[in-house]
Amino acid sequence: MILQKEREDVVRYCQKLIEAGLTKGTGGNISIYNREQRLMAISPSGIDYFETEPEDVVVIDIDGKHVDGKRKPSSEHELHRIFYVKRDDIDAVVHTHSVYSTVLATLEEGLPASSYLIALAGLDVRCADYATFGTMELAQLTFKAMVDRYAVLMANHGLLAGGKDILNAFNIAEEIEHCAEVYVKARSIGTPVILSEEEMTKMISIFNKSYGQKMTKADLDK
Ligand SMILES: [Zn+2]
Repeated sequence: MILQKEREDVVRYCQKLIEAGLTKGTGGNISIYNREQRLMAISPSGIDYFETEPEDVVVIDIDGKHVDGKRKPSSEHELHRIFYVKRDDIDAVVHTHSVYSTVLATLEEGLPASSYLIALAGLDVRCADYATFGTMELAQLTFKAMVDRYAVLMANHGLLAGGKDILNAFNIAEEIEHCAEVYVKARSIGTPVILSEEEMTKMISIFNKSYGQKMTKADLDK
């Protein structure tokens, strides 16, 4: 089977989306890019993640052409593909409808540097302008708002995270949702203190030096 490992990982991480509370039902989607073969594996549209088999995962080439898989790809395939076309530091994308990121995105606000963990995504997390789901316009606006970052909020919609591999992208999505939850709760009882750009720049360099872009939650807990 073409991209067997990537397709198995897409299935496994889609289930993890539900288990980690990052999405409900068939919301959200995941893709993994094989840069050598210039092919991406993306979750299929509208199938229960616990009933999805690797063969259901759709393979698309870098130009957007369908290569393998009987199912229809996620309606957000352009949102994933744009990162593989335009950035060479992202080989996996996780898109969620997680609650606290979406709360902020509903206010069309970004997530400021309220925790050092936000350095996993960059200096802060911006909120991309709104566009209709499944459109090229949404892909372009989301891409633009994620320049120099590894996560972005999508207005009135959700969260997107990208990384060098699926473990890294998933970890960023999980940590940013956690930071969004803490920030929203802190805002409800007071005024959160925001870390300085200098401190965040230091954190980014520590993260990059110690773990590269492959840092996982387990590493952080050490
Ligand atoms: Zn979505």
